[in-house]
Amino acid sequence: MSFYVTTPIYYVNAAPHLGHAYTTIAADVMARHHRQRGEAVFFLTGTDEHGEPVADAARAAGVAPQHLADENAQRFKALAPQIAASNDFFIRTTDAQHMAKVQEVLSRVRDNGFVYEGTFEGWYCPRCADFKAENEIDPGNRCPIHHIELTREQEENYFFALSGFQERLLDLYERRPDFVAPRTRYNEALSFIRSGLRDVPLTRHRLTWGVPVPWDSEHVFYVWFDALLNYYTALSYAPQPAGAALAGAGAGGGAGPVAAPGADLTEQFWPASYHLIAKDILRFHAIYWPALLLAAEIELPEHLFVHGYLLMEGEKMSKSLGNVLDPFTVIERFGADALRFYLLREVPFGQDGSVSTASFEQRYESELANELGNLASRTTAMVVRYRDGSLPACDVDARLAEDFAGLVQRVCELVDRAELTTALDAIWQRVRRLNRYVEEQAPWRLAQGDDGADQLDVVLRTLAEGLRCVSVLLWPYMPSSAERVLDALGAPDVSLQRAELGEGAVAPVRQLEPLFPKAA
Ligand SMILES: [Zn+2]
Repeated sequence: MSFYVTTPIYYVNAAPHLGHAYTTIAADVMARHHRQRGEAVFFLTGTDEHGEPVADAARAAGVAPQHLADENAQRFKALAPQIAASNDFFIRTTDAQHMAKVQEVLSRVRDNGFVYEGTFEGWYCPRCADFKAENEIDPGNRCPIHHIELTREQEENYFFALSGFQERLLDLYERRPDFVAPRTRYNEALSFIRSGLRDVPLTRHRLTWGVPVPWDSEHVFYVWFDALLNYYTALSYAPQPAGAALAGAGAGGGAGPVAAPGADLTEQFWPASYHLIAKDILRFHAIYWPALLLAAEIELPEHLFVHGYLLMEGEKMSKSLGNVLDPFTVIERFGADALRFYLLREVPFGQDGSVSTASFEQRYESELANELGNLASRTTAMVVRYRDGSLPACDVDARLAEDFAGLVQRVCELVDRAELTTALDAIWQRVRRLNRYVEEQAPWRLAQGDDGADQLDVVLRTLAEGLRCVSVLLWPYMPSSAERVLDALGAPDVSLQRAELGEGAVAPVRQLEPLFPKAA
């Protein structure tokens, strides 16, 4: 089994912000989850560096476009470790290997008869780097996304014969109803296809900042085609993923066939399992991308998942974070895990939703500190206090085992459909179940006198096992917190193989420091 997940490549002209962090975090959760399943995983992110906006900004700054791209790409590269993203590779579209591969694939598209010369005239948004159809222009000739005035552009181009793919795309959408999710996005893409596809420019004539067109030196490829191909080209020159990203000694195992060092990863990982994108780039991914791959005779990706926007209007001010949910400030004060948890917990993945610093702090306190943090602290503390840190080797409580039955399977099914918020909620219900179990069993009472000793053993073993199970399942969402808990439980293995309640080994337990301390 192999699993290949991508984020969009981020346009270097902007600074990294919460939206970039959000997509990368979601992709990371999926990558880590599949590594837990013992699969060979490849997780790709990177930067989109060509096109007019970069050339314009470089000119304005009086530097070469490559210089600007180098500088800005570093900021995106630095984002990944800050949010604990475990990407296997960071692609830049100015990589020579990417550019060569783009030329190779698009030459094939031309050889296959899908490229012709023509003149294009239309309304163009330089920020989108895209021409707009008549029905998607806002009043005042404005871009519906950027709200800036569009410019009338005419140029001699090579065209990609997108219109010729209408029937094949309709057929694709009919045969594979899970090609695009959520359903609203599938319907949106489908109705765009049904409304009739027009041919689109494949090259830009006047621009020089891009991948040169091999058959005509006066053109560069249109930045979108260059960018989309990153998902495919990366596999031709990225190093073999480490595969050992699982924490702990006993993790994972059988990660499928492993290519020799330096070998092309395409065969192992293509087609991509999931492309994660935001809805503003739906058309490129749901229509242009599959059409381009069909034209190049390359297998289509399995799934495209479109997440919503994080909305920050009507922001309530928080005590310590001010009123802008800035990922870097949150990470500095509360750690990457808290941000990762909050974003996937607060807004159902796939929908738009509001985020705010006030609701962040509320969830941090009520859920991370008071529910998970408290469960972890008191479980480890009680094993230390009542059993001197040595966990009794008895069976777990059958009622709790019942409440946990099927959880691992359920989480796998949900993550398979990119339902990351629902999966997280399923796990969180068990965190709450364990806290109720503590209250029901009142171990501090069982510890008084000898009558309750056997039951106390069962309760402690059940709590430790429950804490271990939820921590393993939470690892993709909150890797460093989960690792700290598992380490205190003497059970560092995060593979899902033995994530069921009662399957953990009995190991010495030590007291855990508070996982989510109150912010100073
Ligand atoms: Zn625009």
